[in-house]
Parts: sequence; C-alpha cells; structure tokens
Amino acid sequence: MPTARWLNGPDRNVTCFGETAKYREGLYRLTSKTYAWMVPNGAWGETNFGLIDCGGRSVVIDTGWDLHCARAFLGGAAEILARSPVHSVINTHADGDHCWGNQLFGDVPIIATHACIGHMHHIEPGSMRLLGRAAQVMKRVPVAGIDILGHYASAMVAPYDFSGIRLVTPNQGFSGETTITINGIEIILMEVGPAHTPGDAMIHVPSEKVLYAGDIVFTGCTPVVWAGPVARIVAALRKVLALDADFIVAGHGPLATRADVELQIAYWEHIQNELHRRRAQSMSAVEAASDLVLSAQFQATPFATWDSPERLLRNAQALYEEWGERPSLLPEKLARLNTLRQQGRLAMKLPEATPRVMHQR
Ligand SMILES: [Zn+2]
Repeated sequence: MPTARWLNGPDRNVTCFGETAKYREGLYRLTSKTYAWMVPNGAWGETNFGLIDCGGRSVVIDTGWDLHCARAFLGGAAEILARSPVHSVINTHADGDHCWGNQLFGDVPIIATHACIGHMHHIEPGSMRLLGRAAQVMKRVPVAGIDILGHYASAMVAPYDFSGIRLVTPNQGFSGETTITINGIEIILMEVGPAHTPGDAMIHVPSEKVLYAGDIVFTGCTPVVWAGPVARIVAALRKVLALDADFIVAGHGPLATRADVELQIAYWEHIQNELHRRRAQSMSAVEAASDLVLSAQFQATPFATWDSPERLLRNAQALYEEWGERPSLLPEKLARLNTLRQQGRLAMKLPEATPRVMHQR
C-alpha cells in the first residue's frame, strides 16, 4: 500500500481547540499528482483540502472556513501552485468550512453540484460573526440552557475569524456525474447528495487511485447528517469502498482506511437500530440520543472515542424525521440554534469528549 508523505505545515502539535494533534498538520503528497492539506484532528472547521497537480494546471478541492484557513493552505501549496496555477476549484458541498475561502482563488471556474449551489446561502458569514458575539452574551444567561449554548457555540467559533469573507458561489454546476480532463488526467465528480447536505459531491482521480470524499467520510470523528436520508450517506460510503482507492481523503480527520469507512457504516447502522428501539419506547429524539450516547453499551464501542459524540443528537433528530416525526416548527436558523443548544447540553454530559473546550466549562 502506498503511503502519504508529509511535505510542510505549521510547526505545532496542538490543534486550534488546544487538543494534542493526532497527526501532523499540513500538506501531504499522496501520489506524484495528488496532495491533501490535512488539519488535525478534524473537529469543527478543521477541514481537509485537496490538490490535483495536472502538470501546469491544478485543481483545488474545498477552501476552508475562513480566510486564515485558506491562506494556510495556499502557503503550504505555494510551490506546486507556482508551477501549476489553479485551473479550477471544486466545492464538495455548501457548508462554510468547505467554501468560505473561495474568494482567495481568483477568477477561476468554481464547480459544485447544482444542489450545492442552491444551498450556498443557508448560512452566511455574517450569521457566524453574530453567533460569535451573541454567544459571549448568552454565556451569562443561566436560563433554559442558553448559557450552555453560549459556551458551546463560542468555543466552536473561537479559533476562527469570519470577517472579510465574501460568499463566492460556484459558477459551474453539474448534476449526476461529470468528468473534467486536464492534460490527460481524468477527474470524476460524482454527486452523492442529498446525504450529509443537499448537494454533496465526491471527487475521484482514477489514474492515481485517489478519492476526495468530502463530508461523506469523517475519520475518527462523529459524522453528521444535515440533509439525509441516512441511507444515502451509507450508499455513498459503500460507493467509497467500491471505488477501491489507495487514498481516501476525508472531509475531516486523517486519511481513511477501508476499515475506517466500514466503521462509519457501522456507526450509522448502530445508531439507527438503537434509536429506533428507543423511539418504540416513546423516547423523544433528544432523550434517545442522550440515553444512547451515555449508555455503557455505546461507551464500549469505538464510536465513543470519536470527536464530537454529541452530534448524535442532530443525527437522532434527522432519523426521527425520516421515521415520520414532525420537523421543528421553528424557522430554519432558529431550529439549527435550538439543535446546537440541545447538543451543547449533551456535550456537557461528556466531559472527556473532544474537543474538550466544547465539553467542559
Ligand atoms: Zn465539513
């Protein structure tokens, strides 16, 4: 099995959340033509980038949550980008941590699924700036878990700077599957959403046996379903296995092995079975998520040590809706905030979980 070689990166072994980095941050050479910029440990906004050097032209996959993240990648990849300037950018989906650095890549085509393009404005950088400021105030409101939401949200956004971000929407859409060929190198873009979000795509470079999976794969981190259905995430994960790539670049976390991908499938199967059983006992999604994640049985699984286990709460909500539960009547932004509040409450019951700053007060 070929191995990835670390080329350069920041000289630190702690993550932006203060955790010990489980792997080295920075630019890795996967094959002679493919690279990944890896950000440990894969928590909120610790998002990986991809780079395909097609000999004189290159393709960038995802652009980070803020301009600082994007500039760190651009710095690490400078030598490659000098000989192979950016031909195009691909956004795997519309979550800010994958596309809010778009403005730094110049006047090049930005490619995404049509569904991703339609979803680009679901959260604006201004809303995140507001959340960061509001969270500081909420921390001091010890009512209905608002202080916990304040703590959880402010710890989440603290490492990032959402100022100066201009939301640049991809200008080239596709549906289904499309191939771009640059200097004879085939890059296959596969729509797999709605799954994690409404517009997910994965990028396959068959000649290099490399797959950039976006947020279909979270290695060593708890995956999350924003759009669903979960069955489509599992189908996309099976597709990852079927492609038989030597390198699987996750949206978050280290390079994934086949076993990592199989474990992600096992997670989704485990939580569906366990939550379904709890729903039959009349537990709400919030109760079921809490009961499951705190159970001795779950704590004995490998999933318990994954980053951000409290995301099970959002996953439970999504599954309950799939099973016929009425979705929240709140407007989308408030509903997300409420989910975050409930997730924050659950996070505080998991003080050993990482990133610790989001689980301890
Ligand atoms: Zn992400």
